[in-house]
Amino acid sequence: PLPTVAIIGRPNVGKSTLFNRLVGKRLALVDDQPGVTRDRREGDATLLGMDFRVIDTAGYEDEDVATLPGRMRAQTEAAVQDADVALFVIDSRAGVTPLDEEIARWLRSTDRPIVVMANKAEGRAGDSGVYEAMALGLGDPIPFSAEHGEGVVDLFEALRPHL
Ligand code: GDP
Ligand code: MG
Repeated sequence: PLPTVAIIGRPNVGKSTLFNRLVGKRLALVDDQPGVTRDRREGDATLLGMDFRVIDTAGYEDEDVATLPGRMRAQTEAAVQDADVALFVIDSRAGVTPLDEEIARWLRSTDRPIVVMANKAEGRAGDSGVYEAMALGLGDPIPFSAEHGEGVVDLFEALRPHL
């Protein structure tokens, strides 16, 4: 079977846009409305010739943190446990939020490999968010633009040791 990559993070950071870029089809619903991906979606991805299975998750929502085990939180945690590596996506334009920090706290306690993706980093608008993401304690973030396809080589390099 193919190695598995889970895409996780709070709603609206660009997880489904990243999923679509990796799978190369418009499989995941992308919307401005947070939490639009209600169920996890899977697809076969290829990145510079490297093949893997990718899983898009609904997004780890705020309310779920208070009402454990919320459905989306449970889904995120299950996806991470099952994956060979998880891509933790943040919105570098919005910067690191309290919810991102909450997710990071949980991720630091897991034994799964994590790659932090600072998405929406096209142009310079994401620079300070990329810098903030370094403080999450999960390794150097990859500046990325799922919408524009920037950062693909760095993502490849970050995934390769885990796949
Ligand atoms: P999800 O809730 O994490 O799955 O986020 P979506 O993939 O649905 O995207 C949420 C919003 O962010 C949409 O309006 C996307 O067009 C936008 N978005 C996604 N990736 C990027 C990016 O790289 N740059 C910018 N500027 N916007 C993006
Ligand atoms: Mg989504």
